[in-house]
Amino acid sequence: MIQLNNYINGRQVPPKCNAYLDNVEPATGQVYSRIPDSDQEDVAMAYEAAKAAFPAWSKTPLEERYRILIRISELIEHHLDELAQTESRDNGKPVWLARKVDIPRASSNFRFYATGLMHFSSESHEMPGEAINYTLRQPIGVVGCISPWNLPLYLFSWKIAPALAAGNTVVAKPSEITPYTAWRLGEICMEAGLPPGVLNIVHGTGPRVGEAIVTHPGIKAISFTGGTATGARIAATAAPMFKKLSLELGGKNPTLIFADADFDDVLRTTVQSGFANQGEICLCGSRILIEEPIYEKFRDAYVEKISRLKVGDPNDPETRVGAIVSEAHKDKILSYIALAQEEGGRILCGGKAVKLEGRCANGWFIQPTVIEGLDQGCRTNQEEIFGPVVTIQPFSTEEEALNMANGVRYGLATTVWTSDLKRAHRVAHALESGIVWVNCWLLRDLRTPFGGMKDSGVGREGGWEAMRFFTEPKNVCIKV
Ligand code: NAD
Repeated sequence: MIQLNNYINGRQVPPKCNAYLDNVEPATGQVYSRIPDSDQEDVAMAYEAAKAAFPAWSKTPLEERYRILIRISELIEHHLDELAQTESRDNGKPVWLARKVDIPRASSNFRFYATGLMHFSSESHEMPGEAINYTLRQPIGVVGCISPWNLPLYLFSWKIAPALAAGNTVVAKPSEITPYTAWRLGEICMEAGLPPGVLNIVHGTGPRVGEAIVTHPGIKAISFTGGTATGARIAATAAPMFKKLSLELGGKNPTLIFADADFDDVLRTTVQSGFANQGEICLCGSRILIEEPIYEKFRDAYVEKISRLKVGDPNDPETRVGAIVSEAHKDKILSYIALAQEEGGRILCGGKAVKLEGRCANGWFIQPTVIEGLDQGCRTNQEEIFGPVVTIQPFSTEEEALNMANGVRYGLATTVWTSDLKRAHRVAHALESGIVWVNCWLLRDLRTPFGGMKDSGVGREGGWEAMRFFTEPKNVCIKV
C-alpha cells in the first residue's frame, strides 16, 4: 500500500492530524494507496511556507525561473511511461491516452509558461506632451489552485505553471479522487530545484482542504476548475473577500452537424468528441445536433461505430473506453440513462454497466451510450452527465440549430461541422460558447483564451490571459 504525503516547504510531510483517505483504482475497485485527509492546519502550514518563499521567488531573475520550469517540464517528459501508468491507474482512463495526451500536455504546460514568462510584457500609454503611463504587472503573492479528477496532471499543471511563471507562490489541491500524479509532481519539483515553499501541494477533500484554501485570508486569488455547483460556492465565499477568481466549470456542449459537412471526417471525430476519456472531458460534445437530410444516415453509421468501441482494461492498448472514475460517478451516469428513458429517450446502443472478467471484475465500466428521441428541454439534454452518454437530435434550419445549441445554462465549447465558410463564420459568431471549433475538435493552441460563458465559468485561462490573471496590474502615471 502506497502512502502519499503533502508537499510543503520542499518536503513530503504527513498531514498534521495523521488521518488518511483510501485511494481506489477505478478499473479494479481496489484500494491501492492512501492520501492525506488534510485540514486547515495543513493549509495554514502550506500558506506560511508559500508566504515565506514569495519575496525571493518573485524577485528571481526571469531566466532562472525559466530554467526551473523547463526542468520540471523535462522531468515530466522523462517520467512519461510511469506517469501515464499511474494517471491511468488513478483515473481509469486508458494508459495509451494518458501517454498520448495527459502527460505530454502537462509537460507542455510547464514548457509553454516557462517560455511565456520570458516574453510577457506590459503596456504603456502616452498622453502626448502631458504624461506617460506604464502598467506594472506584479505577481499577486500566494495564490490557490484547485483542480478536478478528469485530466488530473494536465489541468493541475495548467494552473500551477502560469501561477509560478508570473512570480507567485502557490498552495494547490488536486482532486482527492486522483491524487497520485500531483504527489509525483512534488517529487519532480524537488528534483528540478524548485526552491522550498514556492509550490505546496495539500491533499484532501474539497470541504476540508478546498474550503480552507478559499477562505484563507492570505490567499489572494483562486484558480478553480470543477463543477458548476462547487464554483458557485467558491464564488459566494471568495467574492466578499475580494479575491481574484478564475472559474472553469461544467458544460453541456453541442456538436452541430450540417448536411454539407465532410461525412467521414464528422463521423471519425464525433466518436472522439463524444467518448474520449469515457466522455469525462469538459469539452466533450454530449448533444449531437444533426441537420435533417443526413440525420438517419449519420445516426446509423454513428451507432454502428460506437457499439464497436471496446470497453475494457485501461492497460489494454485496444481499449477505447476505460473505467469510470468512481463508483458514485458510475451510479450518477446510470441514473441519467434511466432518467433519459423515463423522459422518452430510446437507447440506440449501450445503456448498461459492463461486467468485465479477471483483473477488472470489480471495476466500474459503462457501455458507450447513444440516445435519441428526447426534446430540447428535458433534463437529460439540459444537465451535465460527464460520462459516455450522448444524445442525438435532428434540426431543420440554422436558426433552430442555434436555438438548441444556445438553449442550455452552459456555454463552454461547441463544434460546428460545415463546408460553407460563410455559415461557419455566422454560426460561430452567434454561439454562446467560450470555444468554437469548426470542422475539428480539441485542437488546442495554448496561446488562445480557454474557458466558458454563462454557467460554464468566469474568466479565461491560456496564453497571456492566465499571466494577466496571476498578476496585479498597477498603472504608474508620470507627468512629463
Ligand atoms: P468538483 O467541483 O467536485 O471538484 C473539483 C475540485 O474542487 C476537487 O479538487 C474538489 O476536492 C474541490 N472541491 C470540492 N468542494 C469544494 C469546496 N467547497 N471548496 C473548494 N474546493 C472544493 O468537480 P469534479 O467532480 O472533480 O470534476 C468534474 C467537473 O469539472 C465537471 O463538472 C466538469 O465539467 C468540470 N470541468 C471543467 C473544466 C473546464 O475547463 N471548464 C475542465 C475539467 C472539468
